[in-house]
Amino acid sequence: MVSFYRSLAIILVLMLGVGLSPNSILAINNDELQIRYFDLEADRKSGDAILIVSPDGRTLLIDAGIAETGIQLSNDLGQLGIDHIDYAVATHPHHDHIGGYLTILEQVEVGTLLLPDLTHSTKAYSAFKKLILAKDVDYKYVKEGDRFYLGNEVEIEVLHPSQEMLEQVKREKLSTSEMNNLSLVLKVTYKNNTFLFTSDLYKKLEKELLEKKKDVLQADLLHAPHHGDRTSSSIDFIDAVNPKYIIISANILQSKKVINRYVKRGSKVLATRINGDILIRSDGDNISVITEKENGDRLF
Ligand SMILES: [Zn+2]
Repeated sequence: MVSFYRSLAIILVLMLGVGLSPNSILAINNDELQIRYFDLEADRKSGDAILIVSPDGRTLLIDAGIAETGIQLSNDLGQLGIDHIDYAVATHPHHDHIGGYLTILEQVEVGTLLLPDLTHSTKAYSAFKKLILAKDVDYKYVKEGDRFYLGNEVEIEVLHPSQEMLEQVKREKLSTSEMNNLSLVLKVTYKNNTFLFTSDLYKKLEKELLEKKKDVLQADLLHAPHHGDRTSSSIDFIDAVNPKYIIISANILQSKKVINRYVKRGSKVLATRINGDILIRSDGDNISVITEKENGDRLF
């Protein structure tokens, strides 16, 4: 009997130990919305990869970084126990957003791939399209006005680009800025918290969004447009969004001036270059953030 109670005590201590381990808060948690920015490590600009997990465990990946960091992203997802993504978003055809999908589509099961109806003449984009067909990935073109749910409680709304804008550029060769300005903009709402993902928008489109949608731009968290580059983040736009948090997804910082602009207006600014991996957690009312730097180790 004594040994039974002793074993039970040991098991309880072990369980408690696991429960209290500093990394337990980093695990996928089914009571909250989690948004994870992956710090993709490369010598050149590595792009965006953001994972959203709904409180009921549904997953959405916004972009997958460059091809070279595809393996890292795939491993990070593996560490989180994720081998299935419900929605994979390719915000626009540039390499630093779709490159990693060449690995992810091979290694992770994707429910539906969401993308704007755009094309691009690069090798990376042709390989991406070929892989979609070869793997028979279910894909869907999305545009302004489309809405869907991630699980039961998280709403995703596409704010941009409109069908009209996409049709205007059909069969045209687009410049880098034109392509960036056609990036998907997503607004994510969970109860009273909102998150705005702007991909690579430039100031021109920020202005258009301000004119068309000022009343829906406000968000608790803003993904700094175009990796925090000076092409973007006009003061009027930041003021309209009025975010508590601004996340710069960049392994190479683009503009000190833009960072100062954010800091000056009182937002908490976090950047993957400075803070490493970033985990944002929301219970629908309150948002908390933990970073790799604070944690002393990678978050995955
Ligand atoms: Zn980019």
